[in-house]
Amino acid sequence: LEDYQGRRIVVLGLARSGVAAAKLFHKTGAAVVVNDRKPREQCPEAEELEALGISVVCGAHPDDLVTEDVALVVKNPGIPYSASPLAAAAALGVEVVTEVEVAGRLSKAPIIGITGSNGKTTTTTWTGELLAAAGLSPIVAGNIGRPLCDAAEEIGPDGWLVAELSSFQLKGTAGFKPRVACLLNLAETHLDYHGTMDDYVASKARLFANQTAEDWAVYNADDPVVRRLSESFRARKLPFSLVSRLETGLFVDPAYPLPGSSDAGPGSTPSSPSSPSTPSFPVEERWIVYRPGDGSERRIVQVERLGIPGRHNAANALAAIAIALAAGAAPEQLTEPLESFRGVEHRLEYTGTFGGVKYYNDSKATNATATTMSVFSLPAPLVLIAGGLDRGSDYMELLPLLRDRVKSIVLLGETREKIRKVAELAGLTDIKVVEPVGDAADTLRLAVREAAALASPGDTVLLSPACASWDMFPSYEVRGRIFKESAHTL
Ligand code: ADP
Repeated sequence: LEDYQGRRIVVLGLARSGVAAAKLFHKTGAAVVVNDRKPREQCPEAEELEALGISVVCGAHPDDLVTEDVALVVKNPGIPYSASPLAAAAALGVEVVTEVEVAGRLSKAPIIGITGSNGKTTTTTWTGELLAAAGLSPIVAGNIGRPLCDAAEEIGPDGWLVAELSSFQLKGTAGFKPRVACLLNLAETHLDYHGTMDDYVASKARLFANQTAEDWAVYNADDPVVRRLSESFRARKLPFSLVSRLETGLFVDPAYPLPGSSDAGPGSTPSSPSSPSTPSFPVEERWIVYRPGDGSERRIVQVERLGIPGRHNAANALAAIAIALAAGAAPEQLTEPLESFRGVEHRLEYTGTFGGVKYYNDSKATNATATTMSVFSLPAPLVLIAGGLDRGSDYMELLPLLRDRVKSIVLLGETREKIRKVAELAGLTDIKVVEPVGDAADTLRLAVREAAALASPGDTVLLSPACASWDMFPSYEVRGRIFKESAHTL
């Protein structure tokens, strides 16, 4: 980063990652300008930056922000490339990157980059715990909370920088080269930002673009789009599978299949019957197996002993194990943290049992695929609470789970009428549409009470909205917390 000493850097977007990048470049002696379209009152971070001598421009993108003498633009991942300063940068040939690229150039530690449409936070958190148990000194950062730049600055050469990365972050990378890259799955989400599935897949593929034969590529061999992409990987390959015995990689022994799917790989919709038949083998036999590729194989952990339930979490475990092994952990160091992991808040989080009914908070399920995974991870009959921000989908993907697993549905948010149509097609009769009352929290509280009224002892109530929260709430965290409070006060 010394190359930027005395040169002009524009940081676009005054969120946490922008603040981290601005401070970093300022420290290395660059002349930093931070710009955000938000009005000054909504930029509380401005004061702190200005006190350091960093200039901050709020309220609009000035026309002369990006000029020929700007050495680098660091953009917030959420800002579209059509924004005027980025258009100017493109026209002038000024390099535009996200803060992830900066972190990559800075980090003395090897990097683990984890991406995918679903399961990123769970897998990243779990990976951090596996590495910690193996004494590999990880710092977990990125899309998961702490800006990657911050962590990159702190970490020494003996640690591992474990980064959760979104497609938006990856789209703005250039030379980013993780020692271990992991692609969990690819579903059709975020098409509003990327425009096309091709652009979305290409953004995810950036994670592998600079890898060489000394690096590792961990990927989901069950996902057809991921598998096709993997043909171009140059790193050593460590695939994982829930359904096939791989020559090299991690898999669940296919002689003892997991419930929740037919033969199909993830990415496809699980199509099990509503009451899965009792397995004809002892479940203790269901092991996660590692084959290093030299003809040997080793059992790592029994699937039923994993700390969190569900087929999708078994896939996340496979990914985390593969990453940890690639980073040099020994298999025997992984058993304990695989069994003791309790998951991440708002992801299929057990909330409590009230009136004989179990409540689960899955507020983070912001697309239909995530909701599908969660619904098939819990025992039926289910009372599902769903609906939220309308991103233009028709929610037909929810039809099989509504038909096979859900007994009643409570709908709220912008998509309530759209999902109601799917529920009707699925033959559901217990459909409750909650119209807005009071503020958003009141509406959700009412929805929880409606769900409680529809549930009988032994049932499960699941908040798994299949939609983002921003039509009603500032974040999925707020939505999840209100759900939990309402359940506790039933
Ligand atoms: P992300 O960070 O990618 O949004 P999370 O780990 O936060 O993923 O999980 C969000 C939701 O996605 C979970 O509540 C679950 O419903 C679903 N999910 C988690 N892992 C997977 C997976 N491997 N495949 C499909 N869905 C998943």
